[in-house]
Amino acid sequence: MGIEAAITAEGFMTTQLQRLINWSRRSSLWPMPFATACCGIELMATASSRYDLARFGAEVMRFSPRQSDLLIVAGRVAIKTMPVLQRIYQQMAEPRWVISMGACASTGGVFDTYATVQGCDQFIPVDVYVPGCPPRPEQLIEGVMAIQRHIDNEGIPPTQGGKRMPLNIALAPTHAVRPQPVGLRIGAAGAN
Ligand code: SF4
Repeated sequence: MGIEAAITAEGFMTTQLQRLINWSRRSSLWPMPFATACCGIELMATASSRYDLARFGAEVMRFSPRQSDLLIVAGRVAIKTMPVLQRIYQQMAEPRWVISMGACASTGGVFDTYATVQGCDQFIPVDVYVPGCPPRPEQLIEGVMAIQRHIDNEGIPPTQGGKRMPLNIALAPTHAVRPQPVGLRIGAAGAN
């Protein structure tokens, strides 16, 4: 993995303890999947062998919040579900991080209704917003890497007056929208 090149012939290397802690933290993010809808399928694909989230040390999905430090909200959140999401967030290990995956989790998406939360950031601090409907696995991985970069540089999430402040990182879409398939003609059957 390249570590051999970093270690000198004597077989040891020196570093700062804080850098070592940050390195181990960012290399072992354990996600808590809160997948309520179709974005959850992309989340599963991200962990599969094709995209291999394990390359970033974040493949160990935990379904117990006490063993997780990365909450991935994938899909729309109903008003009735919100207390459950909040409880899960509060039970997770510190320092903890939150990714809002997809349009529904971030804004309610097309579900502009009284029953759907119009953005989970109204109730929990969101660190990274991953755009898309659904986001591709590469985009979600970019979100994980954004958190890793922050851990590398800062170590722990920012706080203000003892209150957890969200990172508020909004990823830019990585694809250009293409027009719909062309060549469709509307007319009477057999007119073509
Ligand atoms: S953003 Fe799109 S893909 Fe994701 S849960 Fe909403 S409707 Fe489904």
